[in-house]
Amino acid sequence: MQNFSQLFENRHEYAKEWKKRTGGKVLGFFDTYFPEELAYAAGILPVRIMAKHYADDTTDRLMYGNCYVTRDMFNQFNLGYYDYVDGLVSIESCQWWYNAFDTTMQMFPNLWSYYLFTPDYPDANRSKDVMRSELALMKGKLEEWTGKAISDADLDNAIEVYNTNRRLLRRIYELRRFNNPVILGSEAMEIMLACQVMDKAEANKMLEELIPKLEDREPYEDRVRFILIGSETYDAELEKLIEGLGGNVVIDELDNGSAYIWNEVIPMKDRLMAIGLRYMSKPHSALKDNVWRRRPEHIFELSEDFQVDAAIIAKQIYCHPHGTDMYAVWKLLQERKIPYHTFERDTTLPYEETRMGIEALINMVKPGMTRLNGWSS
Ligand code: SF4
Repeated sequence: MQNFSQLFENRHEYAKEWKKRTGGKVLGFFDTYFPEELAYAAGILPVRIMAKHYADDTTDRLMYGNCYVTRDMFNQFNLGYYDYVDGLVSIESCQWWYNAFDTTMQMFPNLWSYYLFTPDYPDANRSKDVMRSELALMKGKLEEWTGKAISDADLDNAIEVYNTNRRLLRRIYELRRFNNPVILGSEAMEIMLACQVMDKAEANKMLEELIPKLEDREPYEDRVRFILIGSETYDAELEKLIEGLGGNVVIDELDNGSAYIWNEVIPMKDRLMAIGLRYMSKPHSALKDNVWRRRPEHIFELSEDFQVDAAIIAKQIYCHPHGTDMYAVWKLLQERKIPYHTFERDTTLPYEETRMGIEALINMVKPGMTRLNGWSS
């Protein structure tokens, strides 16, 4: 466990060492709809660009109004932390992500860059075909960039490595379903985040060693169980705060949490279609949950499967996808009588006010309105 949290903490050193060892290129990406398998098949290390709080005296001028997450992504490029990244890819996603991509490319024009269109309505009639043709275009561009043809065998290997990673991480999520889980939410989140900046084959080896050890662990006491919903995260500070108050996040519905690994690529002869279908069928992000909304019911299913007592919605300030999606999530939680607390994060976690809100929620659910009595009673 510690290996994963240390690796995440030292993620820039990890990527630099990987480059030295393999001679490969590193490609930065922002969003979970980026089909990493394609880059991995080309011998590239896809690295998720994630925020971390650093002093910032530039983004107010260049990216005023962006959410903090995206401002910090650019800030880290500007401060030189991502100087090992060879290229950057943006996908059809929220406007702040695009702005972070655009600003970074204006300031660092020598980076290789690519914009991948991913349909905004994943369930639409033509989306799978559009996605497949976009993947074919991107495959060609990656081949041009690396000077290496991507074969079917390369794609099969990448699909297998990524599917294995998803399966192993799902095993960690399953351990959190127990009444007395052997792993806390903060520990699980640090593993999840580390896996998003690592070579997945290396992550898989570490997970295969870790999981049997976790299964033999002494379980934690039963705590108030939470589902965490909202904008993507970049550390486990919130989970740690909740644990300090006697709670535990047993499941999340976050872009870089469960939504990152919840479904696999189902292998088929047309590898690009198989990859495209996986991304179009993944749990919808708030931005792509259009027309017939799937997200609220998915959140409810997770809440039931993981037997949560209450929900915490942590929205990043200025995050419009989660701002506009919130009404549908609130409506569902109210209908199903699941208690919840909503708050906004800014550059850092507003520690004291968050603590007070969560403490109040824990005090409210403890006396009886819990999963043990049934939410609807
Ligand atoms: S989805 Fe929200 S938190 Fe994420 S980059 Fe977009 S606005 Fe920021």
